[in-house]
Amino acid sequence: MDSFTLQVASALVSAIMMISLFLLYRASSREMCLLDWSAAGLLFFLRNCLSVAYFVPQLTSLVSGAMVNALYLSAHAAILVGVRRHLGLWPGWPLVGVLALLVFGLNLMPVVQQSVALRLMLLLPLVLLLCLATLYTLWRAPDPQMRTVYLLMMGIELLFSLQLLVKIVLVALDPDMPLTLAGDELLQTSGYLAMSAFIMLTTMACALIVIRRQELELRRASDTDPLTGWLNRRALQRIASHEFARSDRTGQPCAILTFDIDHFKKINDSYGHAVGDEALKHVTSLAQDVLRGYDYLFRIGGEEFVILLTDVQSAELCAVASRLRRKVLKQPLVHGQLHIPVTVSVGYAQRQLNEDWQTVLDKADRALYHAKEHGRDRVSFYNSHQELEWLR
Ligand code: GH3
Ligand code: MG
Ligand code: MG
Repeated sequence: MDSFTLQVASALVSAIMMISLFLLYRASSREMCLLDWSAAGLLFFLRNCLSVAYFVPQLTSLVSGAMVNALYLSAHAAILVGVRRHLGLWPGWPLVGVLALLVFGLNLMPVVQQSVALRLMLLLPLVLLLCLATLYTLWRAPDPQMRTVYLLMMGIELLFSLQLLVKIVLVALDPDMPLTLAGDELLQTSGYLAMSAFIMLTTMACALIVIRRQELELRRASDTDPLTGWLNRRALQRIASHEFARSDRTGQPCAILTFDIDHFKKINDSYGHAVGDEALKHVTSLAQDVLRGYDYLFRIGGEEFVILLTDVQSAELCAVASRLRRKVLKQPLVHGQLHIPVTVSVGYAQRQLNEDWQTVLDKADRALYHAKEHGRDRVSFYNSHQELEWLR
């Protein structure tokens, strides 16, 4: 393969990486990782421009192998920096600077300057480590909904790492291989081809990571009530159908609990709408304290809330409902000097065989109104004979 053409092609794809990821950053400037990845494109581009310049006789003497290697290493490090920033970790640009200076300094040593093989043996294991670090960082990332796009990037890093490994082994086995920056050795030209493919695919993976995250953020926002942070009615439909279908498969019992703030209108009328909003946040935060982390919490109306509990037995359900009522009763809303008493009425229903979620929600609602009718600040439920009963 012709080395010059491959170097020009690599320079082109790295320019595309730099420009396209920068434009994407301009379109969504919150995604700072795009700047890191665009910088990776810039570093690849500079590295490849130097390689291309090496073929121009008047410029050959100006091109320093040390600079080429330092740029190449920094470009791979910049990809890792972007991944770390995307995951909310310390990006680590200063470390990239230190690493680049180290490689640059080592490459200037006379013994290293005389041997391309030695230069490669200094550079390639470090690049391999950076690729593996990127792979490992993505592997450890917790968000399962991002997994598919992370797998794409991990696959690219893995393939490139394997290619590097083969190269390292071949150079180690035959250190006298006639290698120069302008060489047409298969080992080098296949490396340039792999680099072009790597840059192209990485550009795609970086863009996909950002697009996927934004899609998930939009979906989360459209499912969430902005005041309390609880899920909204739209999400209830989707999640309840999904969880009930799962319960059909696993046989795990599930239940729905609803609660409603008592005489909430009075709080609004007496203290104003803003205090009413505070009361809503106060109650939802207390409710969160008594619930298990994996229960689904919904605000389905002004001051009406639904909790979907999976894998819950009736004794536990009864305890949760009573704890919720007592906790709200005991902790009034504190607003300046004011201590505003707040109470809730609670209703719940355990799913009977094959009932759909709408039926269970309807029963929980009826239990809630039973609690209201029997004086409020109460818990009502369907007992084992499917009769309404309240407890204090
Ligand atoms: P009950 O004990 O029977 O539940 O009586 P209530 O006063 O709590 O219930 P009602 O349904 O009569 O009143 C609910 C009030 O909630 C009416 C509405 O103005 C108020 N509300 C609805 N959404 C919001 C909100 O987002 N913020 C505030 N501050 N008030 C709201
Ligand atoms: Mg109410
Ligand atoms: Mg109400």
